[in-house]
Amino acid sequence: MVQSFEDFKLNRQILNAIADAGYTQPTPIQQKAITPILAGQDIMGIAQTGTGKTAAFVLPMIMKLKYAQEKEPRALILAPTRELAMQIEENIKLYSKYTDLRSVVLYGGLGPKAQIAKLEEGVDIIVSTPGRFLDLYLEGHISTKLLQFLVMDEADKMMDMGFIGSIHRILEVVPRKRQNLLFSATMSELVHKIAGDFLKHPTVVEVDSQATPAVTVTQSLYPVPNLKTKINLLQHLLKDEVDFNRLIVFCKTKTVADNIFKFLERRYGEGEVRVIHANKGQNTRINSINAFKEGDVRILVATDVAARGLDVSDVSHVINFDVPIIIEDYVHRIGRTGRAFKTGAAITFCSPAEEYYVRKIEKLIRQQIPLSEIPADVHIEETPYEERQAIARAIDDQKRREDPEFKGAFHEKKHAKAIAQKAAKEKRASSAEKTSGKFKGNKKSSTVKGGFLGNKRKY
Ligand code: AMP
Repeated sequence: MVQSFEDFKLNRQILNAIADAGYTQPTPIQQKAITPILAGQDIMGIAQTGTGKTAAFVLPMIMKLKYAQEKEPRALILAPTRELAMQIEENIKLYSKYTDLRSVVLYGGLGPKAQIAKLEEGVDIIVSTPGRFLDLYLEGHISTKLLQFLVMDEADKMMDMGFIGSIHRILEVVPRKRQNLLFSATMSELVHKIAGDFLKHPTVVEVDSQATPAVTVTQSLYPVPNLKTKINLLQHLLKDEVDFNRLIVFCKTKTVADNIFKFLERRYGEGEVRVIHANKGQNTRINSINAFKEGDVRILVATDVAARGLDVSDVSHVINFDVPIIIEDYVHRIGRTGRAFKTGAAITFCSPAEEYYVRKIEKLIRQQIPLSEIPADVHIEETPYEERQAIARAIDDQKRREDPEFKGAFHEKKHAKAIAQKAAKEKRASSAEKTSGKFKGNKKSSTVKGGFLGNKRKY
C-alpha cells in the first residue's frame, strides 16, 4: 500500500507542486491508479467526483510528458462540460507549475479566436469538450499525430449528453498507438460500450462500489407535499447560517433555478446568492462560480448541467430542491460536498411525483436515504389544484412507463377515449386481471392523497 506521494516514481517538480497544493496523502483512487498509469496501462476508473480522480490521471500524465516538446499536443483530455474542462486544466496548471508543460482548454460558447491563438503557440496538453475539439480539428487547427494520451473524464455524463457520435469521430482521427484512460462515476451500459471501443485490456480501478456516495456525506430525505412547502422548508434550513454556511441548491430546470434564485435574492439580498444554468453567459457563470469558491456568496443555485465538474471545496450542504430525473446526477450532485477527506450533508426534498425517482436512486446507490420529518415550525401549504393535477399526471405517466397497459385514474377521468379503452380492456379476461392484481400491490406508493407524508416509506 502506497502511503505517501514520495512512494510513487514522480519527479521532484511534481512532488513540490503536490506539497504546495497541501496534499499530504494520496486518496484511494490515486493509490490505485497512479502506478499502473505510470506503467503505461489503459485504465478504466470507476470513481465519482470528489475522490481526487483528476490528480489520479493528471499526475502520472505530466510525469510521462515531462517537459514542453513539439508544437503538436501529446495529450487530449475530453470532458463533458466547459466547467469540468476548465477545472481539469486548472489542476494541470497547479500540478505542472514547476515544469514548462503547456496546456490549453477548449470549449464552445465563446468565439474560438483566443483558443486558436493558444494552439498556434504550441501545446502539450489539450483539455476540451468533444464538440469544440472536433470543430477546431476539422478546421485544421489541431494536429493529432503526436497524441499519445487520451483521457475521457465523466464518461457517463458524456453518454447522457449525447456525445457518443463526436467521440467515435475523435477515435477515428487519433493515432492507434496511445494510452487510454476512462473515468466514470457510474457504469451504465453505454459507458461499458464506449469503454469496449476505447480501451485495450484495461486495468479496472474502482473506489467504493459503483455509484456509492462518499461515506463522508450524510444524506437525508424530506417528503414534501408541494412546491410552496419546499420553499418554506428551504427558508427554514437557511436560517441556520452557521451550519449552512456554503451550500448549493440544485434544481431540475432553469425556470425553477431562476425562481428560487429570485426568491432567495429578495430574502437575503444581492451578495448572498448566485445562480448558474445553461442560459447564463459564460462569463457570468465563471464569475458566479469564482465568487462562490472564494466564499463571497453563501448560496449557489444551480442546474445539473451547469454544475457539472464544479470543484468547490468546503461545501457544507447540497440541497436537492428537486430530485434529479437523471438519477446518476444524484451521485454527482452530492459529490459536491464531503470532498476529499471532508464531511458534508446532502438534503433532498421529494414531492409525491418524485418518489418514483427516489426509489430508482436508492436502487442505484444500494442504500436507503434516511427520512427526515418536516420540522413543526415549517408551514405545510395546501397543494393548489393545478399542482395536484400535475402530480397525479406525473404519477400516472410513471406507472405507464413501468407498465404500458396501465391507464391511470387521471387519464381515465380526463379522457373519454381512455374510458373506452378501459372498457375494452376489461373484456380481455385473464391478462387484465393479472395487470390489475399487480397494481393492487403498488397502490400505496402512488396515490397522491393517500398520505405520502403520513406514511413513512411506502416503497
Ligand atoms: P476531484 O475528484 O478530482 O474533483 O478532486 C476533488 C478535490 O480533492 C479537489 O479539490 C482536489 O484539489 C482535492 N484533492 C485531490 N487529491 C487530494 C489529496 N491527495 N489530498 C487532499 N485533497 C486532494
